[in-house]
Amino acid sequence: MADLSLITPIEYLKGVGPQKADVLKKELQIFTIGDLLQNYPFRYIDRTKFYKVQQLHPDLVGAQVLGRLINLQELGEKRSRRLVGQLRDDTGMIELVWFQSITWLKKNLKIGSVYIVYGKPTEFNGQLSITHPEMDLYNSHEKKVGNMSMQPVYSSTEKLKKFNLDTKGIQRLQQTALETVFRTLQESIPNYILERHRLLPYPQALVAIHFPQQVNELNAAIQRLKFEELFFIQLRLLRNKQLNTQRYKGHRFDQVGDKFNTFFAERLPFPLTNAQKRVVKEIRLDTNTGAQMNRLVQGDVGSGKTIVALMSMLLAVDNGYQACMMAPTEILAIQHYKGLKELLGEDICTIKLLTGSTSVKERRILHQELEEGTLDILIGTHALIEDKVKFKNIGFVVIDEQHRFGVEQRAKLWRKNSIPPHMLVMTATPIPRTLAMTLYGDLDISIIDELPAGRKPIKTVHFFESSRLRMFGFMRDEIAKGRQVYIVFPLIKESEKLDLLYLEAGLENLQREFPLPQYKISIVHGKMPVKDKDFEMQRFVKGETQIMVATTVIEVGVNVPNASVMVIENAERFGLSQLHQLRGRVGRGAEQSYCILMSGNKLSKDGRQRLETMVRTNDGFEIAEVDLQLRGPGDISGTQQSGVLEMKIANLASDQAILAEARETVIEIFKEDPSLSSEKNRLLANYLNQRSPLFNWDKIS
Ligand code: ADP
Ligand code: MG
Repeated sequence: MADLSLITPIEYLKGVGPQKADVLKKELQIFTIGDLLQNYPFRYIDRTKFYKVQQLHPDLVGAQVLGRLINLQELGEKRSRRLVGQLRDDTGMIELVWFQSITWLKKNLKIGSVYIVYGKPTEFNGQLSITHPEMDLYNSHEKKVGNMSMQPVYSSTEKLKKFNLDTKGIQRLQQTALETVFRTLQESIPNYILERHRLLPYPQALVAIHFPQQVNELNAAIQRLKFEELFFIQLRLLRNKQLNTQRYKGHRFDQVGDKFNTFFAERLPFPLTNAQKRVVKEIRLDTNTGAQMNRLVQGDVGSGKTIVALMSMLLAVDNGYQACMMAPTEILAIQHYKGLKELLGEDICTIKLLTGSTSVKERRILHQELEEGTLDILIGTHALIEDKVKFKNIGFVVIDEQHRFGVEQRAKLWRKNSIPPHMLVMTATPIPRTLAMTLYGDLDISIIDELPAGRKPIKTVHFFESSRLRMFGFMRDEIAKGRQVYIVFPLIKESEKLDLLYLEAGLENLQREFPLPQYKISIVHGKMPVKDKDFEMQRFVKGETQIMVATTVIEVGVNVPNASVMVIENAERFGLSQLHQLRGRVGRGAEQSYCILMSGNKLSKDGRQRLETMVRTNDGFEIAEVDLQLRGPGDISGTQQSGVLEMKIANLASDQAILAEARETVIEIFKEDPSLSSEKNRLLANYLNQRSPLFNWDKIS
């Protein structure tokens, strides 16, 4: 084979062949030589540092020990079948344990020989051992590829190991691959950018990441490859943004009219915060440019995003357009509708609600009013993206609590007019900066970083089960003062019987503690018909019940200012942003509010950290960052649907600085050379030409 390159299928690489190619594809999604070379080590073992057996302790992530294998014995049967060895050096002895590949190991490990052993020491019944250590015969160590001090470790699986593709096997392939295609490797980043950011050239970085000779060079290689990955994502996102503004004309809202002004002067029940004013202004300017607006509004729970949305919609109506607002749940849509209708009064403009439960008859009237243009503002759920819903002239779309909606849904709304409406996306809670820059990197971002004046910070405590009676006592005191209380139970999956049992058991307990007729309890959970849910909600809203027992259906956006206590049961089972959302249901009135996190005694490390974070801070932006650190980007809701986040080496939780640098760089490039037509940016223009836009609105239907 003469012309092997990065795009050559992996089976043509020497030493691979059809069978190995098959497992590489299945287990690691490696289809080409390029994929293999992009399968970077996930960590490195420092081969220069040795531990003595006596120095080992369970806090080490991994350690290398030199010792003699003095014994090897198969123990147990079936499930508990294992191979146990003893390794001894001049300071002591440690046990080595394997549960897999026992037959192979028995044949190949040599009792009495000296090994370099690498693994994570763990403690079991007071005794240290290493499970599944990597074993290297001491004298063969010298002959290793590259003879490195930093030895790469690659992900492998049992299946791969059956084909000799353990970390060493993969390393051998990497070497063959590099030797084979090295001549064909090409730089992807323009030279002037490499120089400005002191980045290693691509071929050098690729060699160094697989076969590092020195720590410095390895770090430089990692830096270069991370930068490259983030840089090209930003290039595509910002190109997308650029194309949108060029390609799509926008409705021009060139006047602030009567409706907006009447509302502002006469109906606004409170002065706007400076942050709200700033964001309304940003939207006003942005909708008056002649280009279509795509904007994300980030704001903490309770920062008053709804009123910003309403004023933006009024701006649209003032300019002769219709507007709509989509919420993720029916409860929330109903609440928005009622709240906004009350704020608007009878005379400012027409507003209606459309959800899955809207009757056929009402729907028919509503459709007609929309098409005739007599209905100005429509509030609703997913129901309003259906094709049947046609507007005479929609100019402004608000999507509340965006993370529940996918890109496709955004696109459907986009197509409700021949010129796409302006889009305002509002997050439920803040999202970390790095996520915002990638997930919403093609949107403009407005931030409401100020809460309305006079809000008292919510006091949060964490109680173990043993303090339950104290918690009940506290509830009684608050109810006696005329306040209301939420109690939320986790329903991770609404179908899980166990969860419902928790809810029912909890409810029984509550009914005993808070008996009728003195106390009245509302119940809302996802399995109830919408009508009943709304009925129960309304009883609570009107103050007819003092306690609301609920699952997380109330998580998003529910607003009952008189409620001052939020009790969260099994709080350790909730994610951070969910806890923060739930807590945000209280603290909406003038009274001091409280959040009580109830948990069992056994907490995981993450669980404890989540609860501690909640107790420590009320700041949603800070909580979002901790959440990202704890969970990693892949688990943050909404990210799964975005291919943008499938990264090979960069990590949004830890690479904030590199991401910011990459984005800044791309912004500068586009500022200087918007069409990327200059010679020095030729590589970038080529790159974009070979790829379809990241989110192609035209193609989504
Ligand atoms: P979120 O940003 O979480 O959607 P909302 O828009 O629901 O917040 O607002 C939370 C509460 O704060 C509502 O009761 C709303 O009427 C009130 N509010 C909004 N803006 C202000 C303000 N500038 N001053 C006082 N209260 C406000
Ligand atoms: Mg809201």
